[in-house]
Amino acid sequence: MGHDIEVDIAAFLPDDVEVVTDDRTEPVEDAIADDDAIDLELLGQLEADLDSVDQALKAIDGGTYGMCAACGTDLDPASLQADPVRTLCEAHLPVR
Ligand SMILES: [Zn+2]
Repeated sequence: MGHDIEVDIAAFLPDDVEVVTDDRTEPVEDAIADDDAIDLELLGQLEADLDSVDQALKAIDGGTYGMCAACGTDLDPASLQADPVRTLCEAHLPVR
C-alpha cells in the first residue's frame, strides 16, 4: 500500500529534476560570493562615513565646524549642505 503511493509521487516528478538542481548550484554559490563582496564594500563605506561623522562631531565640540580642518578656511555653505560631515575645503579634500 505505502509503496504504491511512493511510486505515484515519483511519476509526477520530471525526469530532469536532478539536472536542474545541479545547474543551479554554481550560480547560487557565485551569488553568495558576490553578496559577501558587496557587504565588505558597504561595511568599508559605513566605517568611512562613521569616521567622517565622528570628525564633524569633534569639529562641532571644538567650535571649528564649517571650517577646513587643514587650513581653517570657511567651507562653502552649499557644499556643507550637500555633505554635512565634510571637514575639509576643496583644496584639501582627498581625491576619490
Ligand atoms: Zn583647506
